[in-house]
Amino acid sequence: MSTTIKTNAKPVLIMKEGSGADTVKDSQLNSIAAARAVSEVMKSALGPKGMDKMLVNKFGDIIITNDGRTILQEMELQHPVAKMIVDIARTVDDEVGDGTTSSVVVAGELLGKAEELIKKGIHPTIIVEGFQKAAEKALETLESIAWSVNVEDEGVLKKIAATSMASKIVSSYKEHLSEIIVSAIFSVEKKVDGKCKVDLDDVMIEKKLGESLASTKLINGIVVTKEVVYPAMPKSVEKAKIALIGSALEIKKAQFDSKLVIYDPDQVEELIEQEELIIKGIVDKIAGTGANVIISGEDLDKKAHYFLAKKGILTVRRVKKSTMEKLSKATGGKIITNIDIITEKDLGHADLVEERCMGGDKMVFVEGCKNPHSVAILIRGANQRIVDEAERSIHDALCVVRDVVQEPKIVAGGGAPELEAARAIKKFGITLTGKEQLAALSYADALEVVPRILTENAGLNSIDILPQLRSLHEAGDKWAGMNVLDGKIQDMKQLEVYEPLSVKTQIIKSATEAVSMILSIDEILATGKVKEKPPADKETKEAARQAALNAMF
Ligand code: ADP
Ligand code: MG
Repeated sequence: MSTTIKTNAKPVLIMKEGSGADTVKDSQLNSIAAARAVSEVMKSALGPKGMDKMLVNKFGDIIITNDGRTILQEMELQHPVAKMIVDIARTVDDEVGDGTTSSVVVAGELLGKAEELIKKGIHPTIIVEGFQKAAEKALETLESIAWSVNVEDEGVLKKIAATSMASKIVSSYKEHLSEIIVSAIFSVEKKVDGKCKVDLDDVMIEKKLGESLASTKLINGIVVTKEVVYPAMPKSVEKAKIALIGSALEIKKAQFDSKLVIYDPDQVEELIEQEELIIKGIVDKIAGTGANVIISGEDLDKKAHYFLAKKGILTVRRVKKSTMEKLSKATGGKIITNIDIITEKDLGHADLVEERCMGGDKMVFVEGCKNPHSVAILIRGANQRIVDEAERSIHDALCVVRDVVQEPKIVAGGGAPELEAARAIKKFGITLTGKEQLAALSYADALEVVPRILTENAGLNSIDILPQLRSLHEAGDKWAGMNVLDGKIQDMKQLEVYEPLSVKTQIIKSATEAVSMILSIDEILATGKVKEKPPADKETKEAARQAALNAMF
């Protein structure tokens, strides 16, 4: 297809034939429908009573999760506007780490309201303006109802972590995990100009199958999920000087095919001796720096085991790159790729490096690192899916506690802040004129989707409950919300369902931004140009163009 303008005479072609340009009739409504379809999928996942999704890829790999970003990322979306919904979840996750499902659900609801307004003949530009004014009012309201907390108040921080995990598979262990999460944040936080700063890179998350989530532990240092390579090596080294090696400790093979012809059996022995000498030379070089521990990201020649054991060097090999980087940061050691230039200055330091047995598996713990702001959470669980989902949930909980220590303002959840914001927008909306007022009032209705879906996911009737909640808010009960666990309306602040203010504001900002962008699109044009890496040949290019067009229409 191509873009044409019909005149009285012949149609005029305005884009190159075959370039894939196209206009879409009712394109706005199409885009809205695509984006809403995605958000609709997410509704049933919202809140503590929300359901999980089982994601199965073409190889049959399974992920079971409630994490908004993961669900959206794994769905193979094609429509370009539907993909914009995934971006909302990504932004919210990157900025604050929680609230992904809410942001997508709110965006979907806003688009639904926009659709009704477009059908009534209101221009999208007016809708966008109305929505943006309403969003400002919502942000202002959230700021005004939020309260400040003491960043050292362990109790409050644990409640925040627990609220974030309430909606996950791990919720039965939320007390134990909250304790670990808050201790982890306390260990890695730094004070900069009187303010707390947390770099979540300092918290290492390691997973090991076995036992149960109740055995998940906080380790004051780094965990290397490998064992010491050779039984005769020491299993525990105090005041460790650690060489972090990034290259294989073995004899380099020639890069090209080569043959070595040996005529005399003695030469075989000589050759082995030569190889041993080279390996011994490498070991001597490292040992010469004073290193008593070697942690290598690569493999290790078997011949080196004996020499290293003889020198009393605890050695671990084939360690993950991400762990090597964490070790480098924590111990202050450099990752060495050229053994010839290793010096004492390159070594990292830790009070103790020790191999321990955990649930039948041996692991190496690096504790009391030079940089004390390094901890590890070792997740244990009965199966891979549980430990994977626990990792995602722990990540969210770490993020919310970090958010609060960095910006110590919180609100209560259960739909209460959304109801309060909606009430304020409705009051403010009356002051707007004409169509903008309609848009702002629709925005308020859309925000109520949070308490509505929380209620519906708990199997309760939102038609009965929402009006009661609205009346309570009208009467000044600003924390009235839905306690979905007991199925009744309650004061969410008293119930101590706490959430960071920053998560709530980010949901509003990201959803409004994306919806405004979607509403500002009036046509989708398939272009022939590809930004990155052009397809190799003409056929692939044509296939890519066709795929893009099919995705859209
Ligand atoms: P998101 O990805 O948006 O964080 P969740 O599935 O984690 O989605 O659900 C978050 C919502 O669940 C928030 O609105 C939060 O206030 C609410 N929530 C958490 N715990 C409770 C509770 N005990 N009662 C009612 N609502 C709760
Ligand atoms: Mg959440």
